[in-house]
Amino acid sequence: MYFLRRLMVIACAAVVAASTAVAESQFYPSHAITMIVPFAAGGPTDVVSRIVAEHMAKALGQDIVIDNIVGAGGTIATTRVARAANDGYTLITGHMGTHGAAVPLYPNLAYRPDADFEPVALLAGTPIVIVARKDFPANDLQQFVAYLKANTATLNVAHAGVGSVSHVSGELLNSILNIKPTGVPFNGTAPAMKALAAGQIDYLCDQIVNVVPQINAGTIKAFAIAAPERNPALPEVPTTAEAGLPAFQVQAWNAIFAPKGTPAPIIAALNAAVGKALDDDEVRNRLLALGSVIPGPAERTPEALMALVRGEIAKWTPVLGHAGK
Ligand code: ASP
Repeated sequence: MYFLRRLMVIACAAVVAASTAVAESQFYPSHAITMIVPFAAGGPTDVVSRIVAEHMAKALGQDIVIDNIVGAGGTIATTRVARAANDGYTLITGHMGTHGAAVPLYPNLAYRPDADFEPVALLAGTPIVIVARKDFPANDLQQFVAYLKANTATLNVAHAGVGSVSHVSGELLNSILNIKPTGVPFNGTAPAMKALAAGQIDYLCDQIVNVVPQINAGTIKAFAIAAPERNPALPEVPTTAEAGLPAFQVQAWNAIFAPKGTPAPIIAALNAAVGKALDDDEVRNRLLALGSVIPGPAERTPEALMALVRGEIAKWTPVLGHAGK
């Protein structure tokens, strides 16, 4: 009898939990969602977020407010979101740095990328491009590498803070070339790119989304794309393999995460909204024009994003365990 009663209590609790989750999803979203971008406005993470969020907001019937919270290579904002209410109203656009490379670079990182978030969906792959100020004394990657090696002591490389994609990519390039230029941190690669275009910084390894508009405007030069293939948005730019530096390969990306414990129906609603955005012609064209690689259906699931995060942590931990300290 006791056993039976106990069973009923458990069953009732399960029904209540399930119906609460359903109720939450039926009323979700009932007000604006905040999407935190952990870097400066106008940079690649920000631009990709805004393009996709604009369409998601239409699909969800509520505004998505972008909030740029910068600092410490994106880890300040990411910590904040890890601790935010898990009600679907606070999200973050993370990337290969905040949700991968930051782990070995910050021994006291206050969040675990693979345990403190519900992955929502991958938004875009963003290949890395090596770019330099317009008057950098090199015309191709070989000349660039030779100049870097001969003049390391006087060169400045920009990045978006320790653990950012640009920092990690720059560290990888440094280790391949065995050089140690001076790193100059910014709050994102929007301000870094501005400094590069103004000639205040010598070079930068950045996500393609930030590079294409500057190349089109003729304000900087690009030496190579660190991907297996050329990108249709920058058809003139050779791959690192073509240009003689095959070891330099980095694939960055941006993706949405919610705090751990955000109800599954809410994650499903957000994931579906990302899917609709990525299937929309206008969104696709805007992303493709900036060189983004749009994930196919199999890469858009929360499970695929979790696998990507785990893969990045495993990949970068041995490479970066000693860097940035
Ligand atoms: N691309 C930047 C990075 O290096 C971040 C940004 O501004 O989006 O991580």
